[in-house]
Amino acid sequence: MSAIPETRSVEIAERGNPARRRCQARDLISLYLNYPILFPMRKSLNRRALEIMRNKLNAIVGTRAKIEEVQRSRLRELLSFCSLRNPFYRDRFRRAGLREKLDFCPEGLAQLPPLTKVDLQESFDRLVSEGVSRERLVENSSGGSTGDPVNLLQDRNFLAESLATAFISDKMQGWDFGARRALLWGSPKDCGRLSSAKARLSAYLNNENCYDSFNMGIREMQRFHEELTRFQPDNILAYASSIYLFARFQKEARIKPNYPLRSIISSAETLTDAMRAEVEECFGVPVYDRYGTREVGTIASECDHHAGLHLHMLDHYAEVVDFETGQGIWDKPGRILVTLLTNYAMPLIRYDIGDVGILTEDFCPCGRSALLVKKLLGRSSDFVVSPSGRLIHGEYFTHAFYGHRGIRQFQFVQETATLYLVRVVKSADFQPPSLEAVRHEIELVLGQNAEIRFEFVENIPSARSGKWRFTISKIPLPVGQNRETAS
Ligand SMILES: [Zn+2]
Repeated sequence: MSAIPETRSVEIAERGNPARRRCQARDLISLYLNYPILFPMRKSLNRRALEIMRNKLNAIVGTRAKIEEVQRSRLRELLSFCSLRNPFYRDRFRRAGLREKLDFCPEGLAQLPPLTKVDLQESFDRLVSEGVSRERLVENSSGGSTGDPVNLLQDRNFLAESLATAFISDKMQGWDFGARRALLWGSPKDCGRLSSAKARLSAYLNNENCYDSFNMGIREMQRFHEELTRFQPDNILAYASSIYLFARFQKEARIKPNYPLRSIISSAETLTDAMRAEVEECFGVPVYDRYGTREVGTIASECDHHAGLHLHMLDHYAEVVDFETGQGIWDKPGRILVTLLTNYAMPLIRYDIGDVGILTEDFCPCGRSALLVKKLLGRSSDFVVSPSGRLIHGEYFTHAFYGHRGIRQFQFVQETATLYLVRVVKSADFQPPSLEAVRHEIELVLGQNAEIRFEFVENIPSARSGKWRFTISKIPLPVGQNRETAS
C-alpha cells in the first residue's frame, strides 16, 4: 500500500515553471519509483518506518484522551522493562520507592530525579539495558555546540520510530514524498556522508540537495542562491540560524528569491520571532518550527496554525518543570524534561535536555488533539544574566540588532557575571551610530554595571556542529534565586 497521496502527481504535472519542468524526471522517479518501491527495499528499517508511520497517522487523529491512553501504556511498558533489565533505573526506582502496580504512570514518574547530561557521561555503562547486543546498536552523540557532548546508544526500534515521526512532522509542514527538498545543514553526520556514491544516489532518489551550513561565506551563499534558483525546491530544511543568516545575506544583496515553493522547516535551534519574521519576509513562504534533538528525535512540530508545536506523544512523554521547585507546570516557562518511549537499549527517563519552554493543555484550532509546546524559549545556554541577576533571553539581543543595516553578523557572549562581548561583522554600509543604538538597547536590560565590549571580526565561525549561535553564555544559569525574565 502506498503512503503517497494521489494529489501529489497532479501538483507535479501542474508545475508551469520552466526551471521545474527541466528536472521533472527526478520528481517522477522519486515519487513513483523511489518512495513506493526502492526506499522500502533499500533497508528493512525503512520498510518498518513506513509501516509505523501509517499506524501513527491513524492513532494521532484520535481524541486527546485516546492518545494519552496509548502514551500511558507505552510509558508503563518502558518503566516495567527498566525495572527488570536496566541497572541504572532499577536503583533509581528503588531509591524513589516506585512500586510497579501503582507508580508506573506519569504521577509516579514525577517522583524520579531528572536525568542529567552528567548522569549520561558518568553512568554510560549502567544505562545500557542488560541482554542487548551492542553490535546491533547505533552510537549517537549530541551537544557539541554547548560544550558538553553526550554519547548514547540507540536501538533499531528507535531509529524506525523516529524516521516515521520525522515523516509525519514533514507532512505537517508542507513536505510530502517525492517533493524537492534543499537541506541547509551542517552536520557532518547528515551532509558529509554525501561524498560517497551510495549516499549521492540516495539523495538523488529522495529528491534532496544538500548545502553545507558549515561554510556560509558570502561567495558560498551566492553559489547556494544560484543553485537553489535552478533546483526550485518545494521546501528548505535548515538550522534556524543558517536560514536566518541566508535571509540576511539576501536582504543585504537585494536578492528576492523565487524559492522554495511551499515552506521552510526550521530545526535544531531556537527560532525567535524576529528571525522568523525576517526569513518569511525574504522568502515569502511560511516558516514551520520543528523541535528535535539527536538524543530523542523529533519532539514537537508546528502545524499550519502556528499556535505552538504539537508534541509527538507516542514517542515521548514531555514535562516542563519549575526551575526552582522541580514541580510540573503549565503555561509558564520551565525546564523541559523528556522521557523517550522508543529506545529500550539506553532509556532516557526524565531527561533534562537543556531547553526552556512552555507547555499548555489548550487545544490548537487545527483540530489535532496532541498537546502543545506553546513556546520554545531556547537552550538554557541562550539565556544571559545581568549583573543584578536578571535573566534575559537571547532573543532580546537579536531584537537589539534588528533593523540596523551595515551589520552582517553578530554574536553576543556573556564572558563573566559582568563582562559581555559583542562580536560584529561589518558590511560595506556600516555606520558607527548603529552600534551606539545597539549599545543603548543592551544597557537598558543589563544596567550600568555591565561592561559591554564590541569587537569587530572578519567572520564568526559556526560551532563544530555547523550551527551558528547568536547568544552564548559561559556562566551557568543560577538556580534557586528569585528572578524576573525579559524577552
Ligand atoms: Zn495545530
